[in-house]
Amino acid sequence: MARDTLATIKRIAVRTFVAALGIVLVLIALVTWAWHSRPDIGDTGLHPSVAVAGEPAVTATWFGVSTILFDDGETQVLIDGFISRPSLYESLFGIPVASDAPMINYVLNEYAMQRLAAIVPAHSHHDHAMDIGAIANRSSASIIGSETTANIARGAGVPEDQIIVAESGAAYTFGEFTVTLLPCPHAPIGLRGAVPLPGTVRAPLDMPAPIAAWRMGGAWSIVVAHPQGTTIVQGSAGFVEGTLDEVAADVVMLGVGMLEGLGRDYAEAYWQSLVTATGATTVVPVHFEDFTRPFGEIVLMPALLDNFVRTATWLQEFRDTWDGDTHIYLPVFGEPFVLYPGEEPGA
Ligand SMILES: [Zn+2]
Repeated sequence: MARDTLATIKRIAVRTFVAALGIVLVLIALVTWAWHSRPDIGDTGLHPSVAVAGEPAVTATWFGVSTILFDDGETQVLIDGFISRPSLYESLFGIPVASDAPMINYVLNEYAMQRLAAIVPAHSHHDHAMDIGAIANRSSASIIGSETTANIARGAGVPEDQIIVAESGAAYTFGEFTVTLLPCPHAPIGLRGAVPLPGTVRAPLDMPAPIAAWRMGGAWSIVVAHPQGTTIVQGSAGFVEGTLDEVAADVVMLGVGMLEGLGRDYAEAYWQSLVTATGATTVVPVHFEDFTRPFGEIVLMPALLDNFVRTATWLQEFRDTWDGDTHIYLPVFGEPFVLYPGEEPGA
Protein backbone atom coordinates (compact mmCIF):
# COMPACT_ATOMS: atom_id res chain seq x y z
CA MET A 1 0.00 0.00 0.00
CA ALA A 2 2.69 2.50 1.07
CA ARG A 3 4.75 1.41 -1.93
CA ASP A 4 1.77 2.17 -4.25
CA THR A 5 1.36 5.62 -2.73
CA LEU A 6 5.05 6.33 -3.16
CA ALA A 7 4.91 5.23 -6.77
CA THR A 8 1.91 7.51 -7.40
CA ILE A 9 3.64 10.50 -5.80
CA LYS A 10 6.73 9.80 -7.87
CA ARG A 11 4.67 9.58 -11.06
CA ILE A 12 2.92 12.91 -10.28
CA ALA A 13 6.27 14.54 -9.48
CA VAL A 14 7.78 13.38 -12.77
CA ARG A 15 4.76 14.54 -14.76
CA THR A 16 4.74 17.93 -13.01
CA PHE A 17 8.45 18.34 -13.70
CA VAL A 18 8.04 17.44 -17.38
CA ALA A 19 5.07 19.83 -17.72
CA ALA A 20 6.96 22.66 -15.99
CA LEU A 21 9.99 22.04 -18.20
CA GLY A 22 7.72 22.20 -21.25
CA ILE A 23 6.23 25.52 -20.13
CA VAL A 24 9.70 26.98 -19.45
CA LEU A 25 10.92 25.87 -22.89
CA VAL A 26 7.88 27.39 -24.59
CA LEU A 27 8.41 30.66 -22.66
CA ILE A 28 12.08 30.74 -23.63
CA ALA A 29 11.12 30.14 -27.26
CA LEU A 30 8.52 32.95 -27.10
CA VAL A 31 10.91 35.45 -25.52
CA THR A 32 13.63 34.51 -28.02
CA TRP A 33 11.19 34.97 -30.89
CA ALA A 34 10.02 38.35 -29.53
CA TRP A 35 13.61 39.50 -28.99
CA HIS A 36 14.61 38.64 -32.56
CA SER A 37 11.44 39.96 -34.15
CA ARG A 38 12.62 43.42 -35.17
CA PRO A 39 11.48 45.77 -37.90
CA ASP A 40 14.02 46.73 -40.56
CA ILE A 41 15.37 50.27 -40.48
CA GLY A 42 14.56 50.51 -44.20
CA ASP A 43 10.85 50.08 -43.42
CA THR A 44 10.63 53.49 -41.70
CA GLY A 45 10.21 55.27 -45.05
CA LEU A 46 12.56 58.01 -43.78
CA HIS A 47 15.39 59.43 -45.91
CA PRO A 48 18.92 59.21 -44.55
CA SER A 49 20.53 62.46 -43.43
CA VAL A 50 22.44 64.44 -46.08
CA ALA A 51 26.20 63.97 -46.14
CA VAL A 52 28.78 66.76 -45.90
CA ALA A 53 28.69 69.19 -48.84
CA GLY A 54 30.70 72.40 -49.05
CA GLU A 55 32.71 74.18 -46.38
CA PRO A 56 32.54 75.84 -44.00
CA ALA A 57 29.44 74.25 -42.55
CA VAL A 58 28.23 73.24 -39.14
CA THR A 59 27.96 69.46 -39.15
CA ALA A 60 26.53 66.92 -36.77
CA THR A 61 27.70 63.33 -36.53
CA TRP A 62 25.53 60.76 -34.79
CA PHE A 63 27.10 57.91 -32.79
CA GLY A 64 23.99 56.09 -31.58
CA VAL A 65 21.40 56.93 -28.89
CA SER A 66 21.83 60.73 -28.60
CA THR A 67 25.62 60.93 -28.67
CA ILE A 68 26.09 63.64 -31.30
CA LEU A 69 29.19 65.63 -32.29
CA PHE A 70 28.69 69.22 -33.43
CA ASP A 71 31.60 70.68 -35.41
CA ASP A 72 31.99 74.02 -37.21
CA GLY A 73 35.56 73.36 -38.28
CA GLU A 74 36.97 75.29 -35.31
CA THR A 75 35.13 74.03 -32.25
CA GLN A 76 33.49 70.72 -31.36
CA VAL A 77 30.63 70.23 -28.89
CA LEU A 78 29.65 66.69 -27.91
CA ILE A 79 26.14 65.92 -26.70
CA ASP A 80 26.23 62.85 -24.41
CA GLY A 81 29.14 60.43 -24.22
CA PHE A 82 28.13 56.80 -24.70
CA ILE A 83 30.63 54.56 -26.44
CA SER A 84 31.12 51.56 -24.11
CA ARG A 85 27.59 50.18 -24.57
CA PRO A 86 27.25 47.41 -21.93
CA SER A 87 25.67 44.23 -23.29
CA LEU A 88 22.13 43.03 -22.66
CA TYR A 89 23.49 40.44 -20.23
CA GLU A 90 25.47 43.03 -18.24
CA SER A 91 22.47 45.38 -18.23
CA LEU A 92 19.86 42.80 -17.18
CA PHE A 93 21.90 41.17 -14.45
CA GLY A 94 23.45 44.29 -12.95
CA ILE A 95 27.01 43.25 -13.78
CA PRO A 96 29.39 46.12 -12.86
CA VAL A 97 30.63 47.88 -16.01
CA ALA A 98 33.31 50.44 -16.77
CA SER A 99 34.32 52.72 -19.62
CA ASP A 100 35.98 50.85 -22.47
CA ALA A 101 39.25 52.83 -22.71
CA PRO A 102 40.65 51.21 -25.91
CA MET A 103 37.31 51.73 -27.68
CA ILE A 104 37.12 55.37 -26.55
CA ASN A 105 40.70 56.01 -27.72
CA TYR A 106 39.84 54.45 -31.08
CA VAL A 107 36.65 56.52 -31.49
CA LEU A 108 38.30 59.84 -30.55
CA ASN A 109 41.04 59.21 -33.14
CA GLU A 110 38.86 57.68 -35.86
CA TYR A 111 36.35 60.55 -35.75
CA ALA A 112 38.94 63.28 -35.15
CA MET A 113 37.54 64.54 -31.86
CA GLN A 114 40.61 66.64 -31.11
CA ARG A 115 38.91 70.03 -30.74
CA LEU A 116 36.32 69.12 -28.10
CA ALA A 117 35.33 72.17 -26.07
CA ALA A 118 32.28 70.83 -24.25
CA ILE A 119 30.51 67.60 -23.36
CA VAL A 120 26.82 68.03 -22.51
CA PRO A 121 24.75 64.97 -21.54
CA ALA A 122 20.98 65.24 -22.05
CA HIS A 123 20.60 63.49 -18.68
CA SER A 124 22.67 61.12 -16.58
CA HIS A 125 21.42 57.60 -17.39
CA HIS A 126 24.25 55.34 -18.52
CA ASP A 127 23.15 55.39 -22.17
CA HIS A 128 23.85 59.14 -22.21
CA ALA A 129 26.53 59.85 -19.64
CA MET A 130 28.54 56.67 -19.04
CA ASP A 131 31.73 57.79 -20.85
CA ILE A 132 31.68 61.56 -20.36
CA GLY A 133 34.52 61.36 -17.83
CA ALA A 134 36.75 59.13 -19.93
CA ILE A 135 36.24 61.42 -22.92
CA ALA A 136 36.85 64.61 -20.90
CA ASN A 137 40.06 63.11 -19.50
CA ARG A 138 41.35 62.69 -23.06
CA SER A 139 40.61 66.32 -23.96
CA SER A 140 40.36 69.72 -22.36
CA ALA A 141 36.56 69.78 -22.73
CA SER A 142 34.27 71.08 -20.03
CA ILE A 143 31.45 68.83 -18.87
CA ILE A 144 28.18 70.71 -18.31
CA GLY A 145 25.17 69.22 -16.57
CA SER A 146 23.36 68.44 -13.36
CA GLU A 147 24.93 67.66 -9.97
CA THR A 148 24.61 63.99 -10.92
CA THR A 149 26.49 64.62 -14.17
CA ALA A 150 29.20 66.41 -12.17
CA ASN A 151 29.56 63.44 -9.81
CA ILE A 152 29.84 61.02 -12.73
CA ALA A 153 32.69 63.21 -14.02
CA ARG A 154 34.35 63.37 -10.57
CA GLY A 155 34.19 59.58 -10.23
CA ALA A 156 36.14 59.30 -13.48
CA GLY A 157 38.79 61.67 -12.10
CA VAL A 158 37.93 64.68 -14.27
CA PRO A 159 39.62 67.80 -12.84
CA GLU A 160 37.22 70.16 -11.07
CA ASP A 161 38.04 73.02 -13.46
CA GLN A 162 36.57 70.97 -16.31
CA ILE A 163 33.23 70.48 -14.53
CA ILE A 164 30.37 72.99 -14.72
CA VAL A 165 27.14 72.43 -12.78
CA ALA A 166 24.64 73.98 -15.17
CA GLU A 167 22.37 76.84 -14.30
CA SER A 168 18.97 76.44 -15.96
CA GLY A 169 18.66 78.76 -18.90
CA ALA A 170 22.21 80.13 -18.66
CA ALA A 171 24.17 80.39 -21.92
CA TYR A 172 27.64 78.83 -22.16
CA THR A 173 29.85 79.91 -25.04
CA PHE A 174 32.41 77.70 -26.80
CA GLY A 175 33.94 79.29 -29.89
CA GLU A 176 30.97 80.31 -32.00
CA PHE A 177 28.65 77.82 -30.30
CA THR A 178 26.34 78.93 -27.51
CA VAL A 179 24.88 76.08 -25.46
CA THR A 180 21.81 76.65 -23.29
CA LEU A 181 20.31 73.99 -21.02
CA LEU A 182 16.57 74.20 -20.43
CA PRO A 183 15.19 71.79 -17.81
CA CYS A 184 12.63 69.27 -19.03
CA PRO A 185 11.16 66.04 -17.68
CA HIS A 186 12.46 62.61 -18.67
CA ALA A 187 10.01 60.56 -20.72
CA PRO A 188 7.62 58.67 -18.39
CA ILE A 189 8.60 55.26 -19.76
CA GLY A 190 8.81 53.32 -16.49
CA LEU A 191 6.10 51.30 -14.78
CA ARG A 192 2.81 53.26 -14.52
CA GLY A 193 4.36 56.40 -15.98
CA ALA A 194 7.39 56.56 -13.71
CA VAL A 195 10.84 57.70 -14.75
CA PRO A 196 13.24 54.75 -14.73
CA LEU A 197 16.22 55.02 -12.33
CA PRO A 198 15.30 58.47 -10.97
CA GLY A 199 17.22 60.37 -8.35
CA THR A 200 20.55 62.07 -7.88
CA VAL A 201 24.10 60.75 -7.61
CA ARG A 202 25.42 62.63 -4.57
CA ALA A 203 28.97 61.30 -4.41
CA PRO A 204 31.59 60.63 -7.12
CA LEU A 205 30.46 57.59 -9.09
CA ASP A 206 33.23 55.02 -9.14
CA MET A 207 33.40 52.48 -11.94
CA PRO A 208 32.96 49.60 -12.40
CA ALA A 209 29.34 49.94 -11.36
CA PRO A 210 26.07 48.34 -12.44
CA ILE A 211 24.18 50.47 -14.97
CA ALA A 212 21.54 51.26 -12.31
CA ALA A 213 24.19 53.43 -10.58
CA TRP A 214 23.73 56.07 -13.30
CA ARG A 215 20.65 57.90 -12.01
CA MET A 216 18.62 60.28 -14.17
CA GLY A 217 19.77 63.36 -12.25
CA GLY A 218 17.84 65.95 -14.28
CA ALA A 219 17.09 66.21 -17.98
CA TRP A 220 17.59 69.08 -20.42
CA SER A 221 16.44 70.34 -23.75
CA ILE A 222 19.84 71.39 -25.08
CA VAL A 223 19.86 74.39 -27.38
CA VAL A 224 23.01 74.49 -29.51
CA ALA A 225 23.06 77.90 -31.20
CA HIS A 226 25.58 79.04 -33.82
CA PRO A 227 25.65 82.01 -36.23
CA GLN A 228 24.66 79.54 -38.99
CA GLY A 229 21.63 78.13 -37.19
CA THR A 230 20.17 76.60 -34.05
CA THR A 231 19.59 72.96 -33.11
CA ILE A 232 17.69 71.57 -30.12
CA VAL A 233 18.76 68.18 -28.84
CA GLN A 234 16.04 66.35 -26.94
CA GLY A 235 17.55 63.14 -25.60
CA SER A 236 14.39 61.73 -24.06
CA ALA A 237 10.75 62.21 -25.02
CA GLY A 238 9.75 64.25 -21.95
CA PHE A 239 8.27 67.72 -22.32
CA VAL A 240 6.08 70.37 -20.72
CA GLU A 241 3.82 72.08 -23.22
CA GLY A 242 4.78 75.66 -23.91
CA THR A 243 8.34 75.65 -22.53
CA LEU A 244 9.95 75.99 -25.98
CA ASP A 245 7.45 78.46 -27.43
CA GLU A 246 10.00 81.28 -27.22
CA VAL A 247 12.84 79.23 -28.71
CA ALA A 248 13.32 79.33 -32.48
CA ALA A 249 15.18 76.37 -33.97
CA ASP A 250 16.16 75.15 -37.43
CA VAL A 251 16.79 71.55 -36.44
CA VAL A 252 15.41 69.29 -33.70
CA MET A 253 17.19 66.07 -32.79
CA LEU A 254 14.14 64.29 -31.46
CA GLY A 255 14.63 61.56 -28.86
CA VAL A 256 12.11 58.83 -29.65
CA GLY A 257 13.21 56.01 -27.31
CA MET A 258 10.09 54.09 -26.15
CA LEU A 259 7.86 56.83 -27.61
CA GLU A 260 5.65 54.24 -29.28
CA GLY A 261 4.64 52.85 -25.87
CA LEU A 262 3.48 56.31 -24.72
CA GLY A 263 0.85 56.32 -27.45
CA ARG A 264 0.03 58.37 -30.52
CA ASP A 265 -1.64 61.25 -28.62
CA TYR A 266 1.37 61.71 -26.36
CA ALA A 267 3.67 61.54 -29.39
CA GLU A 268 1.64 64.17 -31.22
CA ALA A 269 1.74 66.60 -28.26
CA TYR A 270 5.49 65.95 -28.03
CA TRP A 271 5.95 66.73 -31.74
CA GLN A 272 3.97 69.96 -31.39
CA SER A 273 5.93 71.09 -28.34
CA LEU A 274 9.31 70.39 -29.89
CA VAL A 275 8.85 70.90 -33.62
CA THR A 276 5.74 72.99 -34.31
CA ALA A 277 6.47 75.38 -31.41
CA THR A 278 10.09 76.02 -32.44
CA GLY A 279 9.43 76.23 -36.18
CA ALA A 280 12.12 73.67 -36.94
CA THR A 281 12.32 72.69 -40.61
CA THR A 282 14.49 69.63 -40.06
CA VAL A 283 13.80 66.79 -37.62
CA VAL A 284 16.34 64.06 -36.94
CA PRO A 285 14.99 61.20 -34.79
CA VAL A 286 17.56 59.78 -32.38
CA HIS A 287 17.62 57.10 -29.65
CA PHE A 288 15.72 54.57 -31.79
CA GLU A 289 18.15 51.66 -31.78
CA ASP A 290 18.97 48.80 -29.40
CA PHE A 291 21.73 50.33 -27.27
CA THR A 292 22.83 46.98 -25.82
CA ARG A 293 24.50 46.28 -29.16
CA PRO A 294 28.18 47.19 -29.57
CA PHE A 295 29.20 50.71 -30.66
CA GLY A 296 28.56 51.16 -34.37
CA GLU A 297 25.95 48.41 -34.64
CA ILE A 298 22.59 50.01 -35.39
CA VAL A 299 19.71 47.54 -35.02
CA LEU A 300 16.16 48.56 -34.15
CA MET A 301 14.60 47.45 -30.85
CA PRO A 302 12.37 44.37 -30.83
CA ALA A 303 8.95 45.41 -32.14
CA LEU A 304 7.31 44.18 -28.94
CA LEU A 305 9.39 46.59 -26.81
CA ASP A 306 9.52 49.67 -29.03
CA ASN A 307 8.36 49.58 -32.64
CA PHE A 308 10.24 52.45 -34.27
CA VAL A 309 8.64 51.80 -37.65
CA ARG A 310 5.27 52.69 -36.13
CA THR A 311 6.78 55.77 -34.45
CA ALA A 312 8.29 56.85 -37.79
CA THR A 313 4.87 56.53 -39.43
CA TRP A 314 3.37 58.76 -36.74
CA LEU A 315 6.15 61.35 -37.14
CA GLN A 316 5.45 61.58 -40.85
CA GLU A 317 1.73 61.97 -40.15
CA PHE A 318 2.39 64.75 -37.60
CA ARG A 319 4.68 66.46 -40.10
CA ASP A 320 1.98 66.32 -42.78
CA THR A 321 -0.65 67.64 -40.33
CA TRP A 322 1.28 70.40 -38.57
CA ASP A 323 4.53 71.22 -40.37
CA GLY A 324 4.23 70.50 -44.08
CA ASP A 325 7.59 72.11 -44.95
CA THR A 326 9.59 70.14 -42.38
CA HIS A 327 11.88 67.32 -43.46
CA ILE A 328 12.59 64.24 -41.37
CA TYR A 329 15.96 62.58 -41.84
CA LEU A 330 17.36 59.43 -40.22
CA PRO A 331 20.91 59.95 -39.03
CA VAL A 332 23.54 57.61 -40.44
CA PHE A 333 26.02 56.33 -37.85
CA GLY A 334 29.38 58.13 -37.96
CA GLU A 335 28.59 60.19 -41.09
CA PRO A 336 28.70 63.96 -40.61
CA PHE A 337 25.75 65.82 -42.07
CA VAL A 338 25.27 69.52 -42.79
CA LEU A 339 22.85 71.07 -40.30
CA TYR A 340 22.03 74.34 -42.06
CA PRO A 341 22.47 73.89 -45.81
CA GLY A 342 22.00 77.04 -47.84
CA GLU A 343 22.20 79.37 -44.86
CA GLU A 344 24.84 82.08 -45.01
CA PRO A 345 27.08 82.43 -41.96
CA GLY A 346 25.81 85.32 -39.87
CA ALA A 347 22.52 85.53 -41.78
ZN1 LIG B 1 17.09 58.04 -19.88
